[in-house]
Amino acid sequence: MPEKDKNLAEIAGFFPYDRAREFQDELVSDIYSSIAKRQSILIHAPTGIGKTAGVLAPALKFLFDEKERGHRLKIFFLTSRHTQHSIVVETIRMINGRGGKQIILADIFGKKFLCGFDDVVNFLPSDFSEYCRSLRSEKKCHYYSSTMDASSQEKKFSKAGLAMISRMKAKSAERAELRAECKDAVLCPYEITCGIARDADVVICDYNHIFNTQIREAFFKKIGADLENSIIIIDEAHNLPERIREMLSMEISEKGLQLALRENKRFSQDCGDYLRAMIEFFISRQADDEGKTRFGEVLIENSEILDFLKARFDIPKMLEEMELAADEVRRQQKRSFLGRAADFLRLIASTQEYEEFITIGYSDASDGFFTIEYFCTDPSILTKEVIDKAKSIVLMSATLEPMDMYSDVLGFDYPNMHAYGNPFPAKNRLTLIIPETTTKYEFRNDVEYRRIAFHMMTVLSLVPGRAVVFFPSYSILNSVIEKSKLTGRQLYIERQKLSKEGKAGLIREFLKDEKGVLCAVVGASFSEGIDLPNKLKCVMLVGLPLRPPNIKARKLIQLYQERFGRGFEYGYFIPAMSKAIQSAGRCIRSSTDYGALVFLDKRYDYENYRALMPKDWNIVSTSYYE
Ligand code: SF4
Repeated sequence: MPEKDKNLAEIAGFFPYDRAREFQDELVSDIYSSIAKRQSILIHAPTGIGKTAGVLAPALKFLFDEKERGHRLKIFFLTSRHTQHSIVVETIRMINGRGGKQIILADIFGKKFLCGFDDVVNFLPSDFSEYCRSLRSEKKCHYYSSTMDASSQEKKFSKAGLAMISRMKAKSAERAELRAECKDAVLCPYEITCGIARDADVVICDYNHIFNTQIREAFFKKIGADLENSIIIIDEAHNLPERIREMLSMEISEKGLQLALRENKRFSQDCGDYLRAMIEFFISRQADDEGKTRFGEVLIENSEILDFLKARFDIPKMLEEMELAADEVRRQQKRSFLGRAADFLRLIASTQEYEEFITIGYSDASDGFFTIEYFCTDPSILTKEVIDKAKSIVLMSATLEPMDMYSDVLGFDYPNMHAYGNPFPAKNRLTLIIPETTTKYEFRNDVEYRRIAFHMMTVLSLVPGRAVVFFPSYSILNSVIEKSKLTGRQLYIERQKLSKEGKAGLIREFLKDEKGVLCAVVGASFSEGIDLPNKLKCVMLVGLPLRPPNIKARKLIQLYQERFGRGFEYGYFIPAMSKAIQSAGRCIRSSTDYGALVFLDKRYDYENYRALMPKDWNIVSTSYYE
């Protein structure tokens, strides 16, 4: 029997369907082989293969085999999308429904999303964690008090807490359901979920829970886990490098420091000298060599801000006092600017030994205040430890090509890599490059925007249904839209900083209109966040979503040139192509979907960009598309 059939037969008890889909059997076999050999694997698997079941089933088979040998493992399924949580829960319920081994599942969102209080979702993470800590220590959280056994010194669950844990375990409860039941029973949903996670086979959580070292250590201690006995599945893994960079980066503006100073006075704290010194540093760096206000960005030595403060204060004492003051502020209000200033300095102080951080100053375009960003170029600072220690890591995505870039950037040593075919019919997809326009920096002018608007309108006039047009930035979107005259087509425009409700409302209106055109920005609310099977007939990419050619872009290119000799690819154009392909992927979401993917920029036709497009797209480059 071929190995893939043998592997599929072996995992049958953990597979939720009677038959595997096209390419799914190969996927199952590859995952099983890798995990069984304690190796890591990167998979590029287009939408429709059935990645979730195809990865979970072999991982569960291995976990239960190990359980029988007396080894206790956990599977962590990492996803940043709330919809994916539901898909994993549904898959586990289906497996449990088949009557084989019963899988225990814990569905963990960020603590504030599980918290019993309703008005905390907009808290900053550090503010929320301090808020929760102080409520617990002052015995003011009634949810927490009734969840834990007050007579025990060791943080044991109360009887009501234990009963809820066992009921939710049996149900494979999803977050919303668990939270509602816990709230009704006046129990802390987060603590109950962590109670389930102690015994869970599968824990669904965010990237933060594993890759943020501080969060992981606290979380693992709470649920009795360690990396060595973990199988880690990372969904939408193309986002991982950028998510880790964000985790390790932070910015603060002079305005934020002024608000912290005001807070310091209002709450009678004693950190005024520290904050005034920080403001002085910001003001001095905003001036250029002639003492004039600097516009544009400037690279600052990483050590400069701490050296400036060290000359005036004892840094550990300063940090401790600022953090204590922030705790005091948070006891009285939900947000602390002082806390943010302390977090910023703490991050710089704790990462001083790394050369992969850069400090950039710039005047914020919206208010003119000087802002300093401390930016991490290298995600492997966090990922390498996890990769090296975990039992096995599975990175999966529908856009994980070229996989050697993800392997290099994240710090893998020779992982297995597999790419699978597209299960949707090729005849349902038309892929066009129209090499007539560009959004290249030197060509950004009214004439070029008019040209783009002309081609965009002409293509859309040929589309027999809804379309989405993605732009590389809001400013290009606005410039092109104001030159577009789309008779008979209503434009639904994504505005900057759209709220969750605003986003839902825009999509609702767009879907009511059979010929609507949604105009959105790559990397904002809709390029990954919408899944509309059988609703779209065209997705168009206007321009290439390259990073602005700023200090960050230059440093990324430099890092990857020095490390792998592939600076421009890894630091610049592959991430942009990945975003473009991810956005184009919104068009065809099911085997019955059909539509056109249109790339409106001549650079898509260049050899190096075109080589990054999926091989099965049958791309046609033409100026005569009518
Ligand atoms: S203990 Fe639970 S319910 Fe109470 S504030 Fe913290 S997360 Fe919310």
